[in-house]
Amino acid sequence: MKDCNQCGKCCTLYGGDGLSVSDEEIAWWEDYRPDIAAYVRGGEIWISPVTGNQLLSCPWLRKLPNQNKYTCEIYFDRPEECKQYPVTIEEMIRDGCEMLEPKDLERPKQAQKTLDLLMADSRPPIQD
Ligand code: SF4
Ligand code: SF4
Repeated sequence: MKDCNQCGKCCTLYGGDGLSVSDEEIAWWEDYRPDIAAYVRGGEIWISPVTGNQLLSCPWLRKLPNQNKYTCEIYFDRPEECKQYPVTIEEMIRDGCEMLEPKDLERPKQAQKTLDLLMADSRPPIQD
């Protein structure tokens, strides 16, 4: 299992209409990050504050200059779902996550344990 290389695939796949947030997250943004809350409407993200339409891509995803890498403009205050990704090896395979190595594909149960350890600060483990 490699470290995240900021390829941006997960944000591109899910950053449009593929994310959901809790009422608590929205309330926190309303209090402390009104710039983020501006992109929430009716409990849904990310909604254009200008048109009121669902955005097709995440408004906080930025490509680093002269690199094939991406960064999140609201990294520390991003949605919980973003903080918890990746959750399962199956999901990583499906999404083409570049953290995966050939050995992870050969031993997916061991890879899940390794992933759970890597993500221990963000979410509970999938496997004990
Ligand atoms: S909020 Fe940040 S981490 Fe989440 S999809 Fe957008 S750019 Fe990616
Ligand atoms: S798809 Fe995987 S390697 Fe690429 S940015 Fe997301 S977590 Fe990182």
